[in-house]
Order: sequence, then structure tokens, then C-alpha cells
Amino acid sequence: MTIDSDAAKDGHTLSFTELVDILARVFERHGTSSEVASVLADNCARAERDGAKSHGVFRVPGYLSTLKSGYVNGHAQVAVESVAGGFIRVDAGNGFAQPALARARQPLMQAAAKNGIALAAIRNSHHFGALWQDVEPFASEGFIALACVNATARMVPCGGHSPVYGTNPLAFAAPRAGRPPLVFDLATSALAFGEVRLAAMHGQTLPQGCGVDRDGVPTTDASRIVDGGSLLPFGGYKGASIAMMVELLSAALTGGALSTEIDQSGHPGAQTSRAGQTVILIDANRSPAGSFADRVNQLCETLKHAGQARLPSGRRYANRAASDRDGIYIDAAAWQTLAPFLCLTEARCPPA
Ligand code: NDP
Repeated sequence: MTIDSDAAKDGHTLSFTELVDILARVFERHGTSSEVASVLADNCARAERDGAKSHGVFRVPGYLSTLKSGYVNGHAQVAVESVAGGFIRVDAGNGFAQPALARARQPLMQAAAKNGIALAAIRNSHHFGALWQDVEPFASEGFIALACVNATARMVPCGGHSPVYGTNPLAFAAPRAGRPPLVFDLATSALAFGEVRLAAMHGQTLPQGCGVDRDGVPTTDASRIVDGGSLLPFGGYKGASIAMMVELLSAALTGGALSTEIDQSGHPGAQTSRAGQTVILIDANRSPAGSFADRVNQLCETLKHAGQARLPSGRRYANRAASDRDGIYIDAAAWQTLAPFLCLTEARCPPA
């Protein structure tokens, strides 16, 4: 496809396939294998399609900057090793987490189907994306899926003064009969760091209780959190304990780095975290209560009747349907973040 220069001024609407194609070319040109490029492009395009803007096109410069810094290996060799019936170790080889999970996908599903439950413990991996993408496809295959990731320490523990945890997200997906999976995916910080960066870019004020400045003083100024400050856990000590669990499952269990051990200092420009991730699958067909997927629907109906106006993942699925119908609109600001890396014609390609 061709993109004229007005795109950066006015925004542009593309199909999912067109966006994946552009992003894959950008990634491959800036230091990844074609396999990694295609996984990352698909991941960013899915986020953009579902309206998860903080993990879509907006993230691409961060991926490229990290590749350029040498902190992550865009051609990493992934090693997948089954160490027990339901325990799969994955060494991402200092590459991105999503291609490593893609390599482990089949063995993980086979192990879960055979044993009823299985996990992939991924280490040496960089996760920079939205976690729902790591669980929803498994639920589409009939598995209950749980995933968590740790990242560079940016969150103070409850009552603490210095950062110990990453924003440590947790995602859960359950199959539903005749419908897309029920999914929730949340940072254990009061806000995801990507959201705070977006707010800082737009000069927005945050609600109380999201973060502290570099001196540990509570602030609603997003730029003061981005500039040396820290986030707070959601829900006080309760969220802090969930962040602790994510840290243990993602780092201690996998053999990856704890959030406080992640060190980007030798790699100026690095934005991802060399950390760990765990994905747990449960074969929902082993449930004794009849069809698990029917029971999920039953609970969803009960929630509706009890007054819950919307389910987690409902917003994304609505955005997805709109994008499938009307195309994916990339606004001018997002194009501008991509512009330096877009290779519209060979003659205008920036040096990789
Ligand atoms: P949100 O607070 O936006 O949403 C959290 C979950 O709650 C979503 O599943 C959302 O569904 C659901 N939800 C939101 N509002 C409602 C409501 N009114 N009723 C019912 N459900 C609701 O997410 P976060 O800001 O915490 O996280 C954003 C993203 O950042 C996530 O995808 C996360 O994986 C990612 N992240 C990635 C990190 C990494 O290191 N890779 C680190 C931290 C975060 P819906 O999606 O439909 O809105």
C-alpha cells in the first residue's frame, strides 16, 4: 500500500493486514528476524485494533530504541525444554517474550491437554506489550489461561519509599460457549506506566493515589511520576500482595531477574525489561461441573442481572468489531511517533 505524507498530518485508516505489513517491515528493517518482526507486528496491530492504544503503534519507537541499544536480541534463539509433565522451561535468549511464547505454544497446549494443567516459565525475555494477547488465544482453544510478567522496578510496595516491583500485570482468560473468551488484564499498579507516559505527553493530571514523585511525595502530575518518580499499587496492601505474587511467579519461578535486578544502564535508549513471564493453562474440559464454558456464560448473565454494566474485555471486543468493519484509524500523533521509522519509498528510508 502507499501512504501519502498527509497521513502524518491527518491520521490514516488501514486494514489490520496493512498495518501488520507496515509494522513487520519496520521491525525487520530495524534489527529483528522476519519471524520476530511478524510476531511483534501482529501484537502491536492487535493492540491498535482493539483500542489498547498504549500498547499499539505508540510502543514501536520503544521497541526500536531498545533494539538499537543492543539490550534486546532481535534474532534470539529460543530454547524450550520440558522438565516435568506440566512444567516447560523457556529461555527466550534475551529476545522478546511474545516470539518465545509462540515457540512454546504447541508444547504448552499439548502438556495441558495431557496433564490437565501445565505452565511455561519464560526467562531472559522482554515483554513490552498488552498481556491479554498472551491468554486470549489459549481460551479460544478451550483452556483457562493465566499469565503474568515482571518488569523494571517502578512501583513502591505498600507504605514503602523506593520501587521494588514492576507494574507487574496479570491476565486471565476463560472460554465462553459460543462467544469470545472472557478476559481481564490489569497492571497491579494503580495505572499502567504506558498510560502515565501518554498522560505526561498530553499534560494530563492523574487521579489521586496513582504515584509519587522522585522524593516519594504523592503527586497527580504524570510527568513527575515519569521523571524519576514511582507508581503506587492498586488497592493498597491487597494490590501490593498481588504484585508480589506476580514477581515471584515471573522472576523467582522462571529463573528470570527480579524487578530490582533489571539493569538497563549499559544500554542507553533501552525501554524494555529483561525479565520473566509465566503462563499457566488449565484444561477446562476436565471440570466435573459439565461444560465450564457454559458456566462462564451463566456467571456473566448473573453479573449482568446484578447490575454490572460491562464485562472486562467487552470494550476491546467492541473496538475490534468496529476496526474489522471500518478499518483501524491511526491518529496523527501515532503516525508522528512512527514517521522517523517509516520507509515509504526506498529513497526515503532512514539508515537502520
Ligand atoms: P485497565 O485498567 O484499562 O483495564 C484493566 C481490566 O479491567 C481490563 O481487562 C478492562 O477490560 C477491565 N475494565 C476496565 N474498566 C472496566 C469496567 N468499568 N468494568 C469491567 N471491567 C473493566 O488496564 P491497565 O491500565 O491496568 O493495563 C493496561 C495494559 O497494560 C494491559 O494490557 C497490561 O497487560 C499492560 N501492561 C503491560 C506491562 C508489561 O510489562 N508488558 C506492564 C503493565 C501493564 P477492557 O480491556 O475491555 O477495557
